Amino acid sequence: MSLWATLVSEALQTVWPAGCAACDRTIPEQALFCGACNLSINPMVGACAGCALPLGGGAAERCPTCRRVPFPFAGATSGFEYGEALAEAVVRMKHGGRRDLARRLARLLVHPLAETLSRGEFDGGDLVVPVPLHPARLRARGFNQAHELARWALAGLSAARAVSSPWRKSDRAETGAAGPDARSSGAPNTGGIQASSDAADGPAPPVSATRRLSPPAVRPGAPLPRLDGALLRRIRLTRELGHAGPAARLAEVAGAFGVGDADRARGRRVLVIDDVFTTGATFSACADALLAAGARAVHVLALARAV
Ligand SMILES: [Zn+2]
Ligand SMILES: [Zn+2]
Repeated sequence: MSLWATLVSEALQTVWPAGCAACDRTIPEQALFCGACNLSINPMVGACAGCALPLGGGAAERCPTCRRVPFPFAGATSGFEYGEALAEAVVRMKHGGRRDLARRLARLLVHPLAETLSRGEFDGGDLVVPVPLHPARLRARGFNQAHELARWALAGLSAARAVSSPWRKSDRAETGAAGPDARSSGAPNTGGIQASSDAADGPAPPVSATRRLSPPAVRPGAPLPRLDGALLRRIRLTRELGHAGPAARLAEVAGAFGVGDADRARGRRVLVIDDVFTTGATFSACADALLAAGARAVHVLALARAV
């Protein structure tokens, strides 16, 4: 999509903002999905810390597969199961030129982002890196959805923290501590999506409007890592793999990523963000490149997880 078409599309969205992200039905201004679509959104709760798949009970932090054959990244988080309305919204965002949807969907990432940063003990010297698109694909799409999601989720988290004294107080009251377990004990639910914070678009709304999506759990005062959209590069154009299996995906993306300036990665924790975690092949290739460049640890975060 050309820059002009993107600008026109964004302007139209500003004039007419309140459409369901999946089906365009008219919805309240702060909502993301209509009531019907909202019913299909499943927050990922109690997932494996290694692959972000549901653990299915038990006290283990990692599933048997991750214990046997761990991914190269240290930890993985996703916000929601990939499917139905959320999948529709992601496809419209990526393939329908809907950059505005990236900004709106980023609201759903604010909480998982806070949880991931807390769990990985990130601080201001560390980096948040979107999974890059190949320049040819970036030109065709007009924007990198992973970059948009990362940018607006960080902005949302920053805004939430700026007005966070009531948030933090209620967070501690609800979950016992503003720590990494906040999501499992104060799990967001589908109702929270409609009432969730619009912090990415500006100051967070009053606390009463945000109660059903528990507020971000971040170490008070810990500076947020910086967004670095240029560190990781896609050095080889890969095919869109659709429903390809894990082996085909691994083969396709192996060596597809490179680090532009290893000095920027060396010794830092890096959080890699993407829209969808499918088999982990893309995240693994990114982690391999970052670790080879000297990153101290790589964590990954996706808006949605294919289960
Ligand atoms: Zn809808
Ligand atoms: Zn696992």
